[in-house]
Amino acid sequence: MALIVEKFGGSSLANTEKLRNAAGIAASDYRKENQVVVVVSAQGDATDHLIAQAEAIGRRVSPREMDVLLSTGEQASMALMAMMLTGMGVPAVSLCGWQAGIHTDAQHGVARIDRIDTRRIRAELDQNRVVVVAGFQGIAPSGDITTIGRGGSDTTAVALAAALEADVCRIYTDVDGVYSADPRVIKNAVRHYEIDYDEMLELASQGAQVLHNRSVEMAKRFGVQLEVKSSFINGVGTRVREVVMEKRSVSGVARDQNVALITIEGLRDQPGNIWRLFSALTEQKINVDIILQPPAAGQRTSITFSVPRESLDHAVEMLTGSQSGLSYESVSVDDRVCKISIVGAGMASDYGVASRMFEALYRAGVNVRCVTTSEIKISVIVSEEDSDRGFIAVHDAFF
Ligand code: ADP
Ligand code: ASP
Ligand code: MG
Repeated sequence: MALIVEKFGGSSLANTEKLRNAAGIAASDYRKENQVVVVVSAQGDATDHLIAQAEAIGRRVSPREMDVLLSTGEQASMALMAMMLTGMGVPAVSLCGWQAGIHTDAQHGVARIDRIDTRRIRAELDQNRVVVVAGFQGIAPSGDITTIGRGGSDTTAVALAAALEADVCRIYTDVDGVYSADPRVIKNAVRHYEIDYDEMLELASQGAQVLHNRSVEMAKRFGVQLEVKSSFINGVGTRVREVVMEKRSVSGVARDQNVALITIEGLRDQPGNIWRLFSALTEQKINVDIILQPPAAGQRTSITFSVPRESLDHAVEMLTGSQSGLSYESVSVDDRVCKISIVGAGMASDYGVASRMFEALYRAGVNVRCVTTSEIKISVIVSEEDSDRGFIAVHDAFF
């Protein structure tokens, strides 16, 4: 008997037929004498619809109420899944995040899971039930409902697998594994049978949405055996694991379209100014990614950095409000950009990788706006109109 945590994403639950199909997978594992915990996302685009409803009221809605609203998507899903399983003759019970003992911090919208009290889940498993848990949500110390960030149901599943010491955590989705790039955009993308935690984490962090990056981080930390599989095609999928022996130079290409550039001109070139600027952004919880600072010309300098698009208005508001304190002349933005990244653990020992990427972009007529590198990735920012061309050219250069 194994303990299996299996998570179904929104597209795998989008209608009654798909819900039945997903429940069928859980039922079949249950009938093989396994203990099964099912984690569900909201159905289809339910979360997007809820966000649109809130935005229709106003852009600055209360984060607390937003979490109350967004958590209902997963709550509907879990009840429907438990009903479906029961209808199939499989005893099942659904639990919200708080009922499942998922304790988070108080950061509404981006809460972190602090601990999981597994007593209720264990008691239900001991009663021979399939336990259906709402993904993406938990409870803050105050008792309020929290959500843990878009795409966060993957992280709920891995956190539960870690806390329950499950034998395996299976992420069921609408593709049959992790590919060298998004297979919906890159038609000749190749599927990985296995991939390193580190490479997967970097791909996920750079925009490959197939796994929530925090789920990979957590799987690595707790040694959770993680698999990505299709809900619709029976197959082995991709295993995410500790070390893959033979490192490829490049294991994948990811694209992040949720990027905007901010340029500050005429920033006084003096010690402490950069620190003041970025600590002001950090205080507002604005995540800065790529930073580019050309050499100063005279007393003034400029700086360009990227932020997630949803933080753009907030960042500009904050910068405009503190223009005299930060001592700069003007701020401009560009949200018609995207980031393309290549990821590979073998990259550090292969000197030709960067030039191959830049040559591919050059041959495709794509202008590179900013570059950033780490041991296992190279990212470039390009204009939105070059996005598809650049993505395909870079992938073709390595696969
Ligand atoms: P779910 O609703 O199951 O959580 P997501 O939409 O979050 O599914 O993630 C699955 C999607 O991730 C796929 O449909 C695919 O378009 C996208 N994707 C992006 N990069 C990759 C990749 N490297 N490999 C596989 N899928 C990817
Ligand atoms: N329903 C949430 C979202 O759409 C969480 C998830 O699907 O993982 O972001
Ligand atoms: Mg997802």
